[in-house]
Amino acid sequence: MHLTRPRIFGLIAVIATLLVLAGTVSFPALERHYMRQQAEKDAVPLKLAVEGLRAAVDRYAPLPALIAERSTLIDLLNNPDDAALVAAVNEDLRQTAATVRASDVYLMDISGLTIAAASYREPGSFLGRNFNYQTYFTQALNGALSSFSVYGTTTGERGYFYAAPVEDGERIVGVLAVKFNVSAFESIWRGANSEFMVADRNDFVFMSSRPDWHFRAMRPLSDATLRLIAQNLQYPIDRIELLPITVRPLDADARLVTIEGETRETYILTAQRLADLDWTMSSLSPLGPATLSALRSMLIAGLTGLLLLGALLAYLLKQARQTEALAREKEAKRLLEAAVAERTTDLETALGDLRQTQTDLIQAGKLSALGQMSAALSHEFNQPLAAVKSYADNAGAFLDRGRVAEAKDNITRISKMADRMATISAHLRNFARRPQQATGPLLLNAVVQDALAVIDMRLTSEGGEIAYTPPKSEIWVTGGHVRLQQVIVNLINNALDAMADQPERIVDLRIENTRLQVRDTGPGIEHDAIANIFDPFFTTKAPGKGLGLGLSISFNIVSDFGGTLSAANHPDGGAVFTVTLQPATPMEVAAQ
Ligand code: ADP
Repeated sequence: MHLTRPRIFGLIAVIATLLVLAGTVSFPALERHYMRQQAEKDAVPLKLAVEGLRAAVDRYAPLPALIAERSTLIDLLNNPDDAALVAAVNEDLRQTAATVRASDVYLMDISGLTIAAASYREPGSFLGRNFNYQTYFTQALNGALSSFSVYGTTTGERGYFYAAPVEDGERIVGVLAVKFNVSAFESIWRGANSEFMVADRNDFVFMSSRPDWHFRAMRPLSDATLRLIAQNLQYPIDRIELLPITVRPLDADARLVTIEGETRETYILTAQRLADLDWTMSSLSPLGPATLSALRSMLIAGLTGLLLLGALLAYLLKQARQTEALAREKEAKRLLEAAVAERTTDLETALGDLRQTQTDLIQAGKLSALGQMSAALSHEFNQPLAAVKSYADNAGAFLDRGRVAEAKDNITRISKMADRMATISAHLRNFARRPQQATGPLLLNAVVQDALAVIDMRLTSEGGEIAYTPPKSEIWVTGGHVRLQQVIVNLINNALDAMADQPERIVDLRIENTRLQVRDTGPGIEHDAIANIFDPFFTTKAPGKGLGLGLSISFNIVSDFGGTLSAANHPDGGAVFTVTLQPATPMEVAAQ
């Protein structure tokens, strides 16, 4: 499928939407994953907190038994009305409490009545109060070395109590109790990231890093339990409130709890039981970090997705650009080809026109040659014909008068005229069909000598001279003797014609190897004539003086010999005609 830009953007939008949907759907699972991880992490500080609590509780366990050893306590129990003794023990206990940082240290007789207390000077002191209903008292009275439990008190202060029997020999004569403020244990949790709480077997929260959770029940307490609490005065029953808590399981060890307080808060809850104390300690860590981690992962995934989508987009756009460029190139090529085809057609048309024009020109040229020829021939023949007519008329007239001799003379002239016309006709025939005559080796000097002999007659009658030095060695060329002689005679005749009006008439004849040069001292070839000089019927001579065939015939003869004939003007004046011939091979010469 071809990907156009709109299609690409559509595709990217669909992928992006799918990714967003996938992210939205998978976010809760991701969040839960991080919650579980958080729960696993929480196990460590919870374990430390549990150990800290146990250490704190255990640290003071031997304390009441040690204090109970003091003899003054037995003395006082034996003499409870001794005011001085009471004062002394009160003070002794006060100092002890200050040293161990207990909130109270107090002595009870076997009826449960407090007869001495560290808090003797403070309002609300235990002094004079009876604690026979308290479990720690009854346990100690029954001989347990130390017993402890946690209780709320009527003061509303959460206390942790240790108690030991005071023994006079084998006899138990009283109970010594030490009270610690529970908030002392809670202080170490401050500053932790998580909240902590400790609940008893009834899921009643009596310790927590959150003061507003104190004395809150995590589940409704049964009537029996409430009765037991009321009976023991263990907690301030009127202050017991339900903690509005909803619990959802997270994994085997952790739960998600939502607590409705002033605000609604959700925590990851991990719990550990302190079996011997029948307590459960819980850590409640906020959801924030897990949600944040999930968001961060989602963000990274989203950004990665965005990056990949961007890369995909860039890649697809590049592909599209390339495809478009290719299409453009193709289109340009197509246009170019069309333009070339159009141009070619134009050129072909033009070429056709040119050919036609050429044909027309050739035709015109032929006609012009024919015209030239007709003019020349009609002149050549008209003149003798006119002469023949007048001679014939004359002969007739002479015969009428009986003057036979004159008539005969005229008839002889007619015969001569006929001869002349026959010569012209032969000339023309030669030109029209050049018979293929044999060529052979010729001694160039011999041909020149024969030509000079023919010319000699004209020189004697008209004047002019020929300057010729025969070559020192024999020069053999290829050609036909009579025809080559005709060419040389023709060239010399033309030279003499050209020099007719010159005071000095010299034809310079030279042989250089197989090249023969004929130079005259005439006016030279007319500038316009040079291009047409070898054309048949081209002549500059007056009518009757030349047919314009001499050079044309000479040119063809030399060509037949495989040689060349060329015309030029000499720099020092006069025309130069050069005949270049093929040398005859030694074999041919030997065969001669
Ligand atoms: P024709 O002599 O009958 O005119 P040719 O073919 O022999 O015919 O010569 C063609 C023309 O070439 C002449 O009319 C003349 O104009 C020119 N021509 C030939 N020879 C010479 C020369 N030696 N000097 C100047 N012009 C020449």
